[in-house]
Amino acid sequence: MIVVIGSINMDLVLRVPRMPLPGETLTGGAFRTIPGGKGANQAVACARLSGKVAGAQQVAMVACVGDDAFGATLRAALVGDGIIDSHITILPGVASGIASILVDDNGQNSIVIAGGANDLLSPAHIDAAQGLIEQADIVVLQLETPMATVVHAIKLARSLGKTVVLNPAPAASLPEGVLELVDYLIPNEIEAAMLAGVSPEGADVKALAAALQKLGSDNVIITLGSKGVHAALYGGDYTFPAEAVKAVDTTAAGDTFIGGFVAGLASGMDEAEAIQQGQRAAAWSVTKPGAQTSIPHLHELF
Ligand code: ATP
Repeated sequence: MIVVIGSINMDLVLRVPRMPLPGETLTGGAFRTIPGGKGANQAVACARLSGKVAGAQQVAMVACVGDDAFGATLRAALVGDGIIDSHITILPGVASGIASILVDDNGQNSIVIAGGANDLLSPAHIDAAQGLIEQADIVVLQLETPMATVVHAIKLARSLGKTVVLNPAPAASLPEGVLELVDYLIPNEIEAAMLAGVSPEGADVKALAAALQKLGSDNVIITLGSKGVHAALYGGDYTFPAEAVKAVDTTAAGDTFIGGFVAGLASGMDEAEAIQQGQRAAAWSVTKPGAQTSIPHLHELF
């Protein structure tokens, strides 16, 4: 089983001809609500990319939503993808997480997130999910929920002997000693530079990965957008070029990569095969708009 601990958001996506100036009112174009949030996107990617064959991985989420209409829709969407929702807690009187996203005619994004219920995922929720985490082979986390909860969950998962995958996004520094508890650290270049304590401008990706391994993470996989992936694995350093596609919207590319990689590992692939599965899925996702609307099922990749 794969257990994903993290955020669930409703993305409120509005097309605009250009970004509004401070104090300006603009007339926008099409408006859509699309399920998102890094945790939920990664859970959906794990589920869709595990396939539906006998022995396919089960995926469960540990998260919080509010008792509002978005919360009900978001939870139903996850269940629709076959995700176990027994530890998605509904918090009374709290708003579900949302991301307000403006997309202009050049494809440029401008995003504001209100964490809502995600900000209230606590160490107590993690302890309540211990029975579920005990059944996991791989536990996947990101940083859209409180840092104290993420650290508590990593410590618990590690003490139970689970493989821990951390996507340190959005970029933030981590408390000392946490990277030593992470089996696979999967940042993009900006997040990698932040964790290594250097400027992302002109940073050498090999040096970044080596610095992060030195800080304790056994395996560091840095995603490089259309340039692919640099992986510093226990056995050596490798670069994997991305598949050549015409990108229309890169939302959730990183989340799709992680889902494909984790689903691959859980199904017994070695790291190189799992990275290639993640990249193939992520390349597919950038050709489609939206977050969970752009995550492929395994059968769509072949
Ligand atoms: P996001 O925050 O948009 O989800 P990210 O910054 O976390 O993205 P990226 O490094 O941009 O992650 O992309 C993750 C992976 O997706 C890349 O390693 C690559 O495999 C794939 N990818 C991203 N952009 C492209 C592209 N234009 N063409 C092909 N593959 C891409």
